[in-house]
Amino acid sequence: MKRFGDKVALVWFRRDLRVDDNAALGRALATAQRVHCVFVFDTEILDALDSRADRRVAFIWHSVRELREALQGQGGDLIVLHGRAREEVPRLAAALGVDEVVVAEDYEPAACARDAAVRTRLEEHGIGLRMLKDQAVFAKGELLTRAGRPYTVFTPYKKAWLKLVGEAELAPRLSRGHLKHLVQPPMATRLPALCDLGFEPSDLAAAGIRPGEQGARVTLDDFLERIDTYNLQRDQPALDATSGLAIHNRFGTISIRRLARLAIERRTAGADSWLAELIWRDFFFQVLHHQPQAAQEAFRPAFAHIAWPNDAALFRSWREGETGYPIVDAAMRQINATGNMHNRLRMIAASFLVKDLLVDWRLGEQYFADRLNDFDLAANNGNWQWAASTGCDAQPYFRIFNPLTQSKKFDAEGTFIRRYVPELAAVPVKFIHAPWAMPPGEQAACGCVIGHDYPAPVVDHAVQRERALALYKKASP
Ligand SMILES: Cc1cc2nc3c(=O)[nH]c(=O)nc-3n(C[C@H](O)[C@H](O)[C@H](O)COP(=O)(O)OP(=O)(O)OC[C@H]3O[C@@H](n4cnc5c(N)ncnc54)[C@H](O)[C@@H]3O)c2cc1C
Repeated sequence: MKRFGDKVALVWFRRDLRVDDNAALGRALATAQRVHCVFVFDTEILDALDSRADRRVAFIWHSVRELREALQGQGGDLIVLHGRAREEVPRLAAALGVDEVVVAEDYEPAACARDAAVRTRLEEHGIGLRMLKDQAVFAKGELLTRAGRPYTVFTPYKKAWLKLVGEAELAPRLSRGHLKHLVQPPMATRLPALCDLGFEPSDLAAAGIRPGEQGARVTLDDFLERIDTYNLQRDQPALDATSGLAIHNRFGTISIRRLARLAIERRTAGADSWLAELIWRDFFFQVLHHQPQAAQEAFRPAFAHIAWPNDAALFRSWREGETGYPIVDAAMRQINATGNMHNRLRMIAASFLVKDLLVDWRLGEQYFADRLNDFDLAANNGNWQWAASTGCDAQPYFRIFNPLTQSKKFDAEGTFIRRYVPELAAVPVKFIHAPWAMPPGEQAACGCVIGHDYPAPVVDHAVQRERALALYKKASP
């Protein structure tokens, strides 16, 4: 029952699926006496997904279930809806008679458009929409150059980030004492099953994913055992040296403030190096905020009109992990099998698609977007543009990864290659990076005949390198 004078708020959870240090929930609990909570399985997003067995939907579903139980455990609840969020949220807010809807701010162009539509509809009912920063430490125009412009180069951005970060940015946003303001809605609530949403269950455990706030905590605790050597081992895909937290950062099952504080306080070379990756994440959010058109086109206009040959057969060989370059094929088979790909391999695979196969980076970006468990528009787009040399602070176009050098350097024994390309399991280390160089007798002896058991290389790196340089040179100012 609403008491006279009580302020009522509705927290709309999106990519902040946790109670701990949740900015929107914390703000609502601190300023309203009665707080309702909602999550919407948004058909505008779900209907566009390629696969009905999408691990990300399963991850969200499990995380929402855990969140609902956590809120119920505190005397509240989570209303779970399935429909168009832009209509469902204003309708619910009006039905509940709330004064304000509180959300964590989102920087993706489609989300911004949705939120603008929601704001207009809420206004028609006299309801406010309050947006709070939650997914980044610094966002939008909070960090600008001395000239007042957005940063487009990472190193000075990172310097400014480290200089300015302080208690205000990292303080927890939720006081647990306020959780008593959670209330139960007047209607019965229910969590629809995954199949009611039109999706099949996924074996998240098999893909090494632990969903929800608890899954994030366990993943972090595991990583803390190795964070101090992160700088030394992070580039080796055969090792489990990175945090595996990207999917949690994507869906907000852990607080970025908590992670940044932890890395800052640790004061080891490993933690510093890991913190730099969290700063890259903020960097790309602000790039997308200031340059939303980068989601569709090259950040650098000079490279917006490169005449990519886009050979369909070469693109298919990349997608299927059949290029004949073992490190690239292992990477692509990893993403196809698990929805994950090690960061070093993402760089190698992206560079190979663009600069060896001469395929438009946007096709690769879309392929990753469809498959990566941790897909995030700002990070994916920013990193693809980095690899393709079309982005801000990108690799110069003439710096072209040599897939053999990369393979030898980061998977010296071929341990990772053998894990994902079983045809090469018995190939001697000497030939694991370039199996086409094996003499025919050796091919027969190790059961890997090139062109029969494993593809011959679909292109010659040296030739393609020159073609790529010519394409970029032609487009350069
Ligand atoms: C072509 C390409 C596409 C990518 N697409 C995505 C994507 O869609 N989503 C995504 O989260 N990351 C993306 N990355 C960045 C990076 O590969 C992943 O964040 C990382 O592999 C995730 O593993 P981890 O959680 O173990 O990372 P860790 O090494 O433990 O890093 C810690 C966290 O920092 C963030 N992070 C790390 N590296 C980067 C980076 N280069 N840019 C932005 N944030 C970073 C992630 O949130 C990550 O969880 C991409 C990189 C490349 C080269």
